[in-house]
Amino acid sequence: MNFSSRLLEEAVNEFSKLPGVGQKTALRLVLHLLNKDEAEIGRFAGAMVTLKKDIKYCTVCHNISDDETCSICTSPKRDHETICVVEDTRDVMAIENTNQYFGSYHVLGGLISPMDGVGPSDLQIESLVKRVATHPVKEIILALSANMEGDTTLFYLHKKLKDFNIPITTIARGIAFGGELEYADEVTLGRSIITRVPYENTLIKG
Ligand SMILES: [Zn+2]
Repeated sequence: MNFSSRLLEEAVNEFSKLPGVGQKTALRLVLHLLNKDEAEIGRFAGAMVTLKKDIKYCTVCHNISDDETCSICTSPKRDHETICVVEDTRDVMAIENTNQYFGSYHVLGGLISPMDGVGPSDLQIESLVKRVATHPVKEIILALSANMEGDTTLFYLHKKLKDFNIPITTIARGIAFGGELEYADEVTLGRSIITRVPYENTLIKG
């Protein structure tokens, strides 16, 4: 792409670093913003800077939060003895949108992926084990994506958690999930949470 302006090129390059944004889309967004007045652009940029500066991660479940402990972990209406383990905050939002789950969460912050250099110690796994060891827990639901990284992470989590003798369940793995969980329709996702099955059952082949 040939730019008539170096400033324009720099702005487009920044936008095209975003996931799913090619140079054409980046150019459209930049030109759109350029038509706004300076105060509005200031609010746009300021919202991102403030978000990055002030955002917290819940000390219990590691979900993105405005406070030290998130609104789910502090809610007396939630079942804190059921923990749903997910990859990231998008999964929490998708599951919350189903209105079918009233337990708590544990956000791993990714999946085990040796190809990308992500090992168990890069994720919130030790804190999950510690949480299970120090709090009453009656069920752990593993709600991870149906791909190789999801499978690897499920297997590892099961190994770390099985000796607590707490039921470990998993949701139906046929549906688009994990990073794509937000796109799974709410009815399907809600149903798969209700009809979750013991993880051990999913290991029986044929
Ligand atoms: Zn929390």
